[in-house]
Amino acid sequence: MSNLPKLAWIGLGIMGSPMSENLIKAGYDVTGFTLEQDKLDRLAAAGGTAAGSIAGAVRDADVIVTMVPASPQVEAIAYGPDGILENARSGALLIDMSSITPQTSVDLAKAAGSRGIRVLDAPVSGGEAGAIEAVLSIMVGGPQADFDEAKPIFDALGRTIVLCGPHGSGQTVKAANQLIVAVNIQACAEAVVFLEKSGVDLKAALDVLNGGLAGSTVLTRKKDNFLSRDFKPGFRIDLHHKDMGIVTDAARNVGAALPVGAVVAQLVASLRAQGDGGLDHSALLRAVERLSGAQL
Ligand code: NAD
Repeated sequence: MSNLPKLAWIGLGIMGSPMSENLIKAGYDVTGFTLEQDKLDRLAAAGGTAAGSIAGAVRDADVIVTMVPASPQVEAIAYGPDGILENARSGALLIDMSSITPQTSVDLAKAAGSRGIRVLDAPVSGGEAGAIEAVLSIMVGGPQADFDEAKPIFDALGRTIVLCGPHGSGQTVKAANQLIVAVNIQACAEAVVFLEKSGVDLKAALDVLNGGLAGSTVLTRKKDNFLSRDFKPGFRIDLHHKDMGIVTDAARNVGAALPVGAVVAQLVASLRAQGDGGLDHSALLRAVERLSGAQL
């Protein structure tokens, strides 16, 4: 019998599947639930236990991790008679790693607290590759003692793990992260179209750019997408559209102006409106190509 806490994992998508598998590899007993049967089969094949419902997954858990798309899904899995709060045991720790509005995290912590369930918001950055390689950045909001308790779990998932402040702070930092990533991808996409229209060898150009001040994790991770026009997600435009909404709204609430972020939010929205919402966010290149009359 392992002395490690017993884990429940809700949401086994692009991120949740490899993250939960890293915890299984680290020795944790993981019981999971998600909407797709093939993802449940994948969990079982990796050594986890597939549950038939949220209640079945969380009933015996010491720690419950959630990784679903957005605020409405977090509310759907947390609240109501079939939700986590109703079915988890008092004293359990709920770690929500989804990227959602800071206010949803604050409200969840309050509702859970009245049932003796502790909550951390712990969104991540690093993408699918970071999840697979267990090198995610994890930005956490909540009390220090709960962070300390969760730290061994975070250590199995990521490399840069920081408590940012009280409930909701992790989400606020994640919103800033998404602003930086979107603007960076947009700048890279504009450079790609400019370089190609100028007749410069794109691979050579991106290699040397990435070695200087223009280099970035975005360029390292997305260079091949730009070169091959392979926009299989990764991180879907639909999700980045959601995140640009979160950061725009949160910034408005505190009176922070985001002029460049506002333009990039519109470009993401436009790409989505043109049917590219299911593509990786590196597909912002397609929007710049359209604007420049370049071949798609
Ligand atoms: P995804 O769409 O691949 O997976 C979401 C999973 O949630 C699905 O498997 C779905 O079955 C499950 N789900 C939704 N509603 C559910 C419900 N009611 N009950 C049980 N399961 C439910 O999304 P993803 O790319 O893994 O992203 C998850 C979160 O992580 C999002 O908030 C996203 O913004 C964030 N994120 C994603 C990336 C990335 O590169 N994909 C990187 C950092 C952060």
